[in-house]
Amino acid sequence: RAKDLGGGEHCSYEPSLHASAEERRQLEFALRSALAKNELLLNYQPVVDANSERIVSFEALVRWVSEEHGFVSPGKFIPLAEDTRLIVPIGKWVMQQACAEAARNWPEHVKVNVNVSPEQLIEPDFVATVVQALSRSGLAPKRLEIEVTESIFMRDADVAGRALEQCMALGCSVALDDFGTGYSSLGYLRKLKFSTIKVDRTFVQGASQKSAESVAIIRAVVAMADSLGMSTTAEGVETADEAEMIRNMGCTKIQGFHFGRPMSAGDAMALFRAADRRRIA
Ligand code: C2E
Ligand code: MG
Ligand code: MG
Ligand code: MG
Repeated sequence: RAKDLGGGEHCSYEPSLHASAEERRQLEFALRSALAKNELLLNYQPVVDANSERIVSFEALVRWVSEEHGFVSPGKFIPLAEDTRLIVPIGKWVMQQACAEAARNWPEHVKVNVNVSPEQLIEPDFVATVVQALSRSGLAPKRLEIEVTESIFMRDADVAGRALEQCMALGCSVALDDFGTGYSSLGYLRKLKFSTIKVDRTFVQGASQKSAESVAIIRAVVAMADSLGMSTTAEGVETADEAEMIRNMGCTKIQGFHFGRPMSAGDAMALFRAADRRRIA
């Protein structure tokens, strides 16, 4: 399509580069109609209390099954959606859908975590989107936790910070996702009252492989979060041994395949029903 648009001067691509640019264009084209074609859905992954191992929250994770491309991983289409600003309408849909699911089908003590990209946060109507998702669904604001990464501080940090503060004023909480993998400084931890710091999976996996550095970093993050009055969630906990190790390091919450993979809304509800039956029995 470059040829249709730009004339002949763009025809000297490396074949391999051309293939990936063309693939990207095709994915973008398909992603543009994904919402209208109902190709997006949400999966939910449990977050458990490190000590009681009871579910305290589910993180909503978007999935795309494209008519032309089949299953496309979020690692591939989220960056594309961010580059093309398609993340704005997609993110609105995710926010509405996740709040509705939690309000309708989950016990009241269970929160929902929703990932938000910087491109969404700096939209002037972001806070209005959150207000609308809460009011339409009837979800109590305290049950919504917004997840952002350090990348929100790379540019338009003031705009992003103000939007998050307004969400906190509504009663929502904000988690700092993938902590330790970004490029930003610790200064912003003074400015924004995050409720939770999510320790990135790479540190958990490192600690599991007996990396003294990873262990030291997790301990330091937990200590820092404690003194700041924030909780910690360890991401990517895949085994019982890792869960035990993480618990001993003092993380407050755990998320990972060991306690549950991302699952359909129906399977998440079935988990609660099973837990209810155990309580009655
Ligand atoms: P994230 O927010 O850090 O989400 C956690 C990712 O780790 C998920 O990948 C999850 O499936 C994966 N994961 C969880 N436990 C384990 C484990 O024990 N082992 C391993 N190996 N992986 C684990 P997923 O679903 O592929 O999502 C990737 C990223 O895409 C997310 O990372 C998030 O940054 C982004 N994303 C997903 N859904 C949305 C969304 O609705 N909006 C936005 N803006 N971004 C989203
Ligand atoms: Mg997340
Ligand atoms: Mg994460
Ligand atoms: Mg991560």
